[in-house]
Amino acid sequence: MKRIEHALLSPSLGAGRQLTSLHFGQAGSGPKAYIQAALHADELPGMLVAWHLKAAFTQLEAAGHLHGEIVLVPQANPIGNDQTLLGQQLGRFDLASGENFNRHYPQLAQTIYPRVKARLGRDGAHNTRIIRDALRAAIEQTPVRTELHSLRQHLMRLAVDADIVLDLHCDYDAALHVYTGTPLWGQCEPLARYLGSSAQFLSTEAGGDPFDEACCRVWWELQALAANDRLEAPIELACLAVTVELRGQGDVKHSQAKQDAAAIIDFLRHRGLVTDRPAPEMPALKQPATPLAGSENLYAPHPGVVAFLVAPGSRVEAGQPVAEVIDPLNDRVAVLASQYGGVVYALENRHYASAGMWVAKVATATAFKTGSLLSA
Ligand SMILES: [Zn+2]
Repeated sequence: MKRIEHALLSPSLGAGRQLTSLHFGQAGSGPKAYIQAALHADELPGMLVAWHLKAAFTQLEAAGHLHGEIVLVPQANPIGNDQTLLGQQLGRFDLASGENFNRHYPQLAQTIYPRVKARLGRDGAHNTRIIRDALRAAIEQTPVRTELHSLRQHLMRLAVDADIVLDLHCDYDAALHVYTGTPLWGQCEPLARYLGSSAQFLSTEAGGDPFDEACCRVWWELQALAANDRLEAPIELACLAVTVELRGQGDVKHSQAKQDAAAIIDFLRHRGLVTDRPAPEMPALKQPATPLAGSENLYAPHPGVVAFLVAPGSRVEAGQPVAEVIDPLNDRVAVLASQYGGVVYALENRHYASAGMWVAKVATATAFKTGSLLSA
């Protein structure tokens, strides 16, 4: 294992943070996987999974069972982990700018297409190498004026040329679920099956430019640009990027983390990065993939205390009660139900609802939303 420290731009005199990446295997000898945890710094199940992955990768590397390179970043957001305000740890938004730590990543297709267009040929693997060179160069040119910009640039630099990018997050109180690009579902399904994922969300553009999309969307956008120009140049979907939601914020437990790490390693066996033994047979997919545009939020119509009626991961029919919002002063009881039916994949973990707060989220098969599909 090689450990590399990446200094972030110092925001203030006397202050300085660093990002740490752990490198296993041999760069260039095979595929590259990049795995990071806790980009939303208050989402910690992935950091514990990373701890178990670190131990496993160390052993696999020592035994000569890695083909290619695995880059592991157990703490993707040292800025967010250091944001404690009035006793609360605030890891989703950068206090200095108000920006979500998982938004505003560079989408580079339009930037690099004019630079690579004339050099693309009939060999897809050759084109992938040219595109990755251009992506690496473009990352170096992204403006870095703040500590947060420098964090984003370091993360992109580590991930942008990987074949597999796993961004480990969690929701408030949730069943395990994944987000990926619609064109990537075939590549993602084995991961979803090994992880036992309860909901799989697909989109070609989620809105807000999250980290995973910055790594993968460029490939199908370049395909579209090349097709528009009638270039006879195959462009591969060379990066599978998946945001893995490892249940809820409270689900930081060794038993689950070991199981999740084992599932990720089985997926890496399936992809040929881990070579100690063949990948085991995949369990069945728990639920079919559904459009991210079909993720239905159930909102509190009035303030009150929330009583949940189902557990995360439950399947509900259209109209089946999911939660009640109870106003004990005026005897109002709002019964919240899905309009379409589907898997209740996430619940709020606060039990006092203000008017308009989302209380539960349901993965439905009906793509009814347009515009930005992610929450703030
Ligand atoms: Zn998150």
